[in-house]
Amino acid sequence: MSIFDLQITLYSTALYTTWIFIDQWKLLFDAGDGVTAGLLHKSRKVQTVALTHADRDHLAGLLQFLQLNGRPGAPRLLYPRDSNSFRSLAAFTAQFDPTTSAGAVWQAVAPGDVIPLQKQLQLLVRPSLHWRDVPPEQVKVVAYTVQHAASSLRPELQGLPQAELDAIRLRDGRDSLMTTRTHDLLTFSGDTPLMPADAWGQPQLLIHEATFLDDETAADAAATRYNRHSGLPGVLDMALALAPQGLILTHFSLRYPPEEIVATIQREAQQRQLPFPVWAVLPGEIQRDILHTPPVWG
Ligand SMILES: [Zn+2]
Repeated sequence: MSIFDLQITLYSTALYTTWIFIDQWKLLFDAGDGVTAGLLHKSRKVQTVALTHADRDHLAGLLQFLQLNGRPGAPRLLYPRDSNSFRSLAAFTAQFDPTTSAGAVWQAVAPGDVIPLQKQLQLLVRPSLHWRDVPPEQVKVVAYTVQHAASSLRPELQGLPQAELDAIRLRDGRDSLMTTRTHDLLTFSGDTPLMPADAWGQPQLLIHEATFLDDETAADAAATRYNRHSGLPGVLDMALALAPQGLILTHFSLRYPPEEIVATIQREAQQRQLPFPVWAVLPGEIQRDILHTPPVWG
């Protein structure tokens, strides 16, 4: 399957709401206001909710989402390990809707954790510097990469007769025969300041925020606020180094009219001769199946 076959439905506007549903993977990134109303019956398909942080625009949809879709053992919600907000919300929703929401499974995660999804797919948890003033040992914000993981015979053992392989397996166990190769399919940055390209792995598709259309505004906001966001030119420079097959930009500030967002992306992409397509999630709009809509660039 090509990464461009993914059916991605999403809504993302800074301060208001962010949620991203990947149909084939039954995976929801964040659960801002309106996620259930936006997905309707499809919200039932979600098996894993990967939450990046507890700012309200990323979690406010959970009350209804869990009331409608909570059942014994599902869905599974991954949240940053040291987030008190998510722990409170887990307890509250279980009390509020004991016959539904209480069935959901909350799982604390930290950078480096690898969470199995469906067959041959896994979620790698990445660190995030979105919130300032978080002690280094605390995990309050994370990002995620979906990886393909395939097991195969260790290269040094390839070509050995089956009898020898069987002997090794009996002596040292199956793990001694096999090696797992992973490659990155998709990274969701969550809310983030600009990071070096290698912070995001080597994903085929990058979903990255671009709250501000210029880097100066991003820097000014970061200096005065408790959180940090990215500016579009910096994101495009970083993406050029990362070289994904496609880029989806999210989390634009409502201060920018849609035409200005589109024109700025096209101008900046043109200057850099970006070799991959760029899609934009414009403020206030649900994008259904965004990868099957025309990109704003490419
Ligand atoms: Zn946000």
